[in-house]
Amino acid sequence: MLQQNNPLMLREDLPRFDLIKPEHFVPALRTTFSEIKEELVKIENNIIPTWEGLCKPLEDLEVPLEYTWGVLEHLISVKNSAELRTALQECLPDFVELTLQISQSKPIYEGLKQIKQTKEYKSYNDAKKRIIDTKIKLAEQAGIALEGEEKKRFNEIFNKLQRLGSDFSNNVLDSTKKFELVVNNLSDAEGWPKALKMLASQTYNTKHNSKESTPDSGPWSITLDHPSFQPFMQNCKNRELRFKVYNAFVNRAASDETDNTKLITEILTLRNESAKLLGYKNYAEFSLDTKMAKTPEKVYQMFDELEKETKVFAEKEHSEIQKIAADSGFSEELKQWDIPFWAERLREKKFNFTEDDVRPYFPFPKVLDGLFSLCERLFGISIKKSTRTDIPKWHPDVDFFDIFDESGKAIAHFYLDPYSRPSEKRGGAWMNICASRRIYKGKLRNPIIYIECNGTPPIEHRPSLMSFFEVNTLFHEFGHGLQGMLTTINESEAAGVNGIEWDAVELASQFMENWCVNKPTMIKMSEHYKTKAPIPNDLFEKLKSAKKFRAAFQMQRQIAFAKTDLYLHSNYDPSGSESVFDAYKKIANESCIVKPYSDDRFLASFSHIFAGGYAAGYYSYKWAEVLSADAFAAFEEAGIDNEEAIKATGRRYRDTVLALGGSLHPAEVFKLFRGRESNTKALLRHSLNPET
Ligand code: ZN
Repeated sequence: MLQQNNPLMLREDLPRFDLIKPEHFVPALRTTFSEIKEELVKIENNIIPTWEGLCKPLEDLEVPLEYTWGVLEHLISVKNSAELRTALQECLPDFVELTLQISQSKPIYEGLKQIKQTKEYKSYNDAKKRIIDTKIKLAEQAGIALEGEEKKRFNEIFNKLQRLGSDFSNNVLDSTKKFELVVNNLSDAEGWPKALKMLASQTYNTKHNSKESTPDSGPWSITLDHPSFQPFMQNCKNRELRFKVYNAFVNRAASDETDNTKLITEILTLRNESAKLLGYKNYAEFSLDTKMAKTPEKVYQMFDELEKETKVFAEKEHSEIQKIAADSGFSEELKQWDIPFWAERLREKKFNFTEDDVRPYFPFPKVLDGLFSLCERLFGISIKKSTRTDIPKWHPDVDFFDIFDESGKAIAHFYLDPYSRPSEKRGGAWMNICASRRIYKGKLRNPIIYIECNGTPPIEHRPSLMSFFEVNTLFHEFGHGLQGMLTTINESEAAGVNGIEWDAVELASQFMENWCVNKPTMIKMSEHYKTKAPIPNDLFEKLKSAKKFRAAFQMQRQIAFAKTDLYLHSNYDPSGSESVFDAYKKIANESCIVKPYSDDRFLASFSHIFAGGYAAGYYSYKWAEVLSADAFAAFEEAGIDNEEAIKATGRRYRDTVLALGGSLHPAEVFKLFRGRESNTKALLRHSLNPET
């Protein structure tokens, strides 16, 4: 294929999603990789130890990758297909090799160290200094100092781990897709929320290529995707069916041809081996060396503080669930697949509303308006749907927006892809970078971001009606997006979320979730899709308290996962007799009031730590929650109803947390915003205290 006709080679404006086909990737990536390699040779043969001479040319190499590799990774996650996977498999070894070639280049490493000795270095801004320091550290972590056999082995492991990670997530996707529970009996669907019936009916008709199913009479198809799995577990009265779905969920990718068990052992063994090659005691030490927390001890100290306060609340929560089950005549021991059902009954009793009462007040377009006007109010920006009519998209549901500053100048752009598409889009929600903010060929380029959710799609002629969970998720991902978009850093490697320590990355996202229980925000973002009435006050109050519902249980569960993750990457022996599943159960038994299920193999689908960036870093969610709760407390202290104070605090938040990105250590950024170091008080108060 002629490269001139390859839309991936256009490299300007937006990626041409309208023209890109799977077969474009391999030739475009081959050409791109070899161009970059040529550039690299030029750089290495003529090391100029200055920012402009060395760092800037390296930064520029990212641009052709954003238009090719970045697009491939994006499409794999939103438009997955066998052809795309084949393209990825084919190019992955070369991509890994190229990444290693850059990060392990001796001449570049030496050049960077030389820059630090120059007079000029002292005059560099924080971003440049930190980028240089980080590059040196990462080069060392990437094995720059290794020689001969050790180096060869290290590279082998790196390659192998990349492949294992991608196999791991494909297995999870395939295994999730494979499961279907068809419910035929009317009595088994009794009490289901309308949204679940509609979704399950639509899924049945799509999966079976039929028109047979109706929301009221079925048959219904239940899947392991969140919008189906969660309401089913909460509302299906048939205990056997609940067990079937729960068992399938925690056993995804744990047997047959999608079994991840062996991959886990291999991943853990190889990670440990590579950490040891670098002189670390284990992989956890390696991982924490580049994080905000720095040492496992610091993390365990946070767990201790949180666990101590949480225990009594967790016990209280559980006995309430036991009581309502017993009062309703349920005499057996409460199992994992019973708890969501009885907890939902308790929630209904306590708060006296169902998801069906809530969803009509959250039509997606209204929520989006509310979110945007909050950001406009807090940060002095404006957000508008793009007036361009030629935006290339990968799906008709996708929209494209522009962000403007106070002076009306466009400073960032984002794609929003809000709905679930189980057959091609991976589960969960995420923000990803399409293009980083940078100066390229002398011109400032605005950041472009992907916001991906898996919300309930519109059904027939009704708009998407969001659950409160989905509303929170949208706010969360938009929080990541804001940090990616409101950055003022021009050096792409420290702009937006780039260069921020993993354990501080969820600060900006979780911060936004706090606004979902803030009254003025809520009023603006809710409107009954038929009557146009705002959400009733008592329903709002209930939603607010409901957000704390089972907070102690959630806290214990997250801590159990985080402890398991740290343990598997430090003291655990993958070749020993203890399985990873047993390791998790042991920790969960000690940490949680709700005991784990005996056949729980959830770790087999735990992509965060085995296929994502959270290896020995899952604690980061809690770590960042501590930071985000404390950051939100700054707004509470300023007086949440005091418009002027909120604006000033919002502006300070934008100028520090959102603007500075990875240009400063996160502890320093936090101090600039808050005037002091962070502590666990606000998180404990927000999540456990019923009064606040
Ligand atoms: Zn997040």
